[in-house]
Amino acid sequence: MEVQVLGAHNCESTEGRLTSLLIDQVLALDAGGLTSSLSLSAQAKVSAILLTHYHFDHIKDVALIGYYNGLVIGSGLDNKTKMVYSTAEVLDALSAHILNDKIFPDFTRWPSKELAAVKFCPVELYHPQTIEGYRVVAIPVKHSVPTVGFEVTSGDGKAIFYTGDTGPGLSHCWGHISPQLLITEATGSNRFSKKTAEVGHLTPQLLKQELIEFRQLKGYLPKVVLIHISPPLEVVIKEEVAQLAEELGSEISLGYEGMKISI
Ligand SMILES: [Zn+2]
Ligand SMILES: [Zn+2]
Repeated sequence: MEVQVLGAHNCESTEGRLTSLLIDQVLALDAGGLTSSLSLSAQAKVSAILLTHYHFDHIKDVALIGYYNGLVIGSGLDNKTKMVYSTAEVLDALSAHILNDKIFPDFTRWPSKELAAVKFCPVELYHPQTIEGYRVVAIPVKHSVPTVGFEVTSGDGKAIFYTGDTGPGLSHCWGHISPQLLITEATGSNRFSKKTAEVGHLTPQLLKQELIEFRQLKGYLPKVVLIHISPPLEVVIKEEVAQLAEELGSEISLGYEGMKISI
């Protein structure tokens, strides 16, 4: 399994993209930086998108990749609908507020009802399902709005757990997963741990407790990559993450745009 970090930040600029990961070029996790990071031919290869929650920095490019796919289908060049998986709450919010025939067309019925650009597929919590040949399980995490993390396991048994945005309290997830790679977030720096936790995010200090609990329960730590970084705090966060890696004696690093991780 190869995981590519498309977007590792919570702001978009020429130096950074919004949160988005891509597994083996076909399965996207969150869509903050999907179209801004990929060529049109690479966008065409993306078959399915898993969304953790409906905050704009995670859903932005669903509309844009859907639009391009609709143009391709409408031109008769391809006939593959992009599958978008998330909880019913997230899909309903997308329909109500983005693909609502006002902000953008309803791509679940365009260019035609029979062959649409996008199909919404609700997922059930804790219920494993097969998506593009991967075993996928959605597990709720604690954020300011309803959010799920996804464990994605390939046919050869390699697994990633991606939390999306999350605050402290990940320990209830740990019993459900056994990943070789954990991708989670470090939105804030340790100085702001209290404030960061209150708005449903993590700092390196807050993450430390979560990882200690993981190791106590599972007897190992996976490789950890941190994204959703706030650009004004990035230099400090990077130093704090290096310190955390040393304290726990484990492989923990900041993600960056273009990073590729093989497990
Ligand atoms: Zn969020
Ligand atoms: Zn976010």
